[in-house]
Amino acid sequence: MLRIPNLADVLPSSDQDFLYLSNVSPKDKPWDKHRSESDLVSKSYRFLEYDSYAQRIENCSRYLEFVLRPDVHGQVKFKLNHAFFCRVRFCPVCQWRRSLKWRARILEAVPKLLASYPSHRFIFLTLTVQNCPLEELRANVTHINKSWGRLVKRSKFPAVGWLKSLEVTRGRDGNAHPHLHVMLMVKASYFKGTNYLSQKRWSELWKSCLRVDYQPVVDIRLVKPKSGSSENSVTVYMSGVKKAIVEVVKYSVKEADLTDDPLWLKGLTNQLHKTRSVAVGGVFKDYMSSKEPEDLVHTDLEEDETLDEIAKAYFAWVQKVKRYKSINFLTEEETT
Ligand SMILES: [Zn+2]
Repeated sequence: MLRIPNLADVLPSSDQDFLYLSNVSPKDKPWDKHRSESDLVSKSYRFLEYDSYAQRIENCSRYLEFVLRPDVHGQVKFKLNHAFFCRVRFCPVCQWRRSLKWRARILEAVPKLLASYPSHRFIFLTLTVQNCPLEELRANVTHINKSWGRLVKRSKFPAVGWLKSLEVTRGRDGNAHPHLHVMLMVKASYFKGTNYLSQKRWSELWKSCLRVDYQPVVDIRLVKPKSGSSENSVTVYMSGVKKAIVEVVKYSVKEADLTDDPLWLKGLTNQLHKTRSVAVGGVFKDYMSSKEPEDLVHTDLEEDETLDEIAKAYFAWVQKVKRYKSINFLTEEETT
């Protein structure tokens, strides 16, 4: 049954704060920021005469439907239930939702992976190449992906499962800086003796797969293997893994790089058309979907949903104030 509640009844508030999503549900604060950025990207596409992208982004997530449930502490929890997403590659809202989806997928997979491979560990790599002119980005991305294909086939490649994500930033020299963020699952024996790949050895290995004559920059982040198996050490290990995962699937392009310069956006749009930003391989494929996320609504980890839905709440994007506002309180001007 559909009930539109008076939010003031559900969430008592001393002032008018309950009008806005960011006030009634602090965890949904990022909506305002990302949707504002989408407005800017839409404007840039309009300027570039990419009208179809501009229009689609303008219509992206203009209305949000949430279901409200009390949690075990009696706090009302908001959960997105319905929204229209434009799915334009560089729509900031859609890019954010895709990254949340990948994060949820991998976070769901990790405990299952550790149950099946209890002695395995995760390591996190950043593999870079030299910056390239924006107009050569597509060729460079193809080259990076081919080189990655060579890397996973090498006998020294230590991972039984992996997830990689392509990020393109704008270098200080004005060139494009494509690089890979990678999460690897390795055997415990990786850390012993000759199996271990130091930063220098990773750089050599990546260099030979890239078939280049310069030394590529490689960064490795190890989440310290847990010592002992107390509940606390597992929790500490997992929180380190989670933090690193967030970095791996954060975004494919920084929002500032989408909004600062329409010509940069144009170059990215043309160069990265129909390329993939995230890929999964090895045993990870058995534990998570490797497809591009379709459902951008349900991006939370599965929660205990035994508690009843108490209401639905609807919010509309109000461009002028750059906030999502409860539709019960829209002014006449805001509804048009
Ligand atoms: Zn969108």
